[in-house]
Amino acid sequence: MESRNFILKGDIAYSKTQTRLLTSENSYLVCEKGKSAGVFPSLPPAFAGLPLADYTGKLILPGLTDIHMHAPQFTFRSLGMDLELLEWLNRHAFPEEAKYGDAEYAHLAYGRLVEHLKQGPNTRICFFATLHVPATMILMELLEKSGLVSLVGKVNMDRNSPDILREADAEASAGATREWLGAIEKNGPYKNTYPILTPRFIPSCSDDLMRALSAIQKQYALPLQSHLSENQREIEWVRELCPASSSYGNAYAQFDLFGAQTPTIMAHCVWSDKKELELMRSRSVYAAHCPQSNINLSSGIAPARRFLELGIPTGLGSDVAGGVHTSIFRAMTDAIGVSKLRQCLIAKDEAPLTLEEAFWMGTLGGGSFFGSAGLPGNTAATGSFDPGYEFDALVIDDANLTAPFRASVEERLRRVVYLSDDRNIVAKYVRGNPIK
Ligand SMILES: [Zn+2]
Repeated sequence: MESRNFILKGDIAYSKTQTRLLTSENSYLVCEKGKSAGVFPSLPPAFAGLPLADYTGKLILPGLTDIHMHAPQFTFRSLGMDLELLEWLNRHAFPEEAKYGDAEYAHLAYGRLVEHLKQGPNTRICFFATLHVPATMILMELLEKSGLVSLVGKVNMDRNSPDILREADAEASAGATREWLGAIEKNGPYKNTYPILTPRFIPSCSDDLMRALSAIQKQYALPLQSHLSENQREIEWVRELCPASSSYGNAYAQFDLFGAQTPTIMAHCVWSDKKELELMRSRSVYAAHCPQSNINLSSGIAPARRFLELGIPTGLGSDVAGGVHTSIFRAMTDAIGVSKLRQCLIAKDEAPLTLEEAFWMGTLGGGSFFGSAGLPGNTAATGSFDPGYEFDALVIDDANLTAPFRASVEERLRRVVYLSDDRNIVAKYVRGNPIK
């Protein structure tokens, strides 16, 4: 990693805790060797010699983290938004993903995705790719060149999927995963792009495949991502497929693929009951809360308040293309919105999320996974400007969003979350490196 030492000057805001923002007007944010050295109202003499980028009057925020996105689905965002999950998968997701068997198509489509993400507010993303090894390598190479930090998963699926998008059996699927990990070792190691095991979800992975993935997980000490309790029909299906499992989460846990020694992200958890949430908490399984996708695919409203109360690590996901928008600012506003509906319609005792909590989820909440996933090197968490966090930062020109009077940094942050778009971003840093 290129190690950069410099100072940004401007109006700084970040989450000090899950419920409290820290704001510091006209202050200095110091980057040392790609990590934050802290925020200072006046510059300590020890840093006086460092180069300074003066962004006076602009906001400086942590980069946003998307912990659940399907890279190949970027191409059909907005299509099929009148369908429910399982129909949407069959009509749109599976046929599109099958196209990534063609390396040339993968190059074009992933190239557009990565260019789009460079312009936006997210600095870190956890991607599902497809089951194809060459296309997944193409995505990883493009991401590595972009400077963004990512976890990328070659998807495993050996049952209950169309012929055009299914591996022959457990052996073929696990073999392709080993081939992929071998290619990463040969091409890499990458500085910013890491592999993550990615069984698509229980319905598309046989027991034999899950056993094989468990062996690979132990051999390579990889983190893992998958889907959990997204949709009621899907949960019923898992019950039929795994009659011996006490819950959907348990269907992963029986193979040691649910937290504990396997750093894990589970997307959705909309219908996780008390027992399943407790299993997540006790094994530090991350919930990727994807409110926009849950709306679009009629999945329901995830109990985000419960995640926080129970101490389940929680971040936000775009879940493109279940979600249409890649920006995690949008996920923050959707998370707040659906939490209000949940209180209205489902659970009166679950208070809606505050802006502070949604902002925390989209920065430090998801960003902490990068510090706990056992990634190589000295990889630390991101999403905060406290000393020691990896330096992912956005500089936002919010002049067109503010009222014609002097507003507090906190009020300006609220406007940015709801109103800004990529045009407001004037600079973006990941691990202290500028993204251009
Ligand atoms: Zn998903």
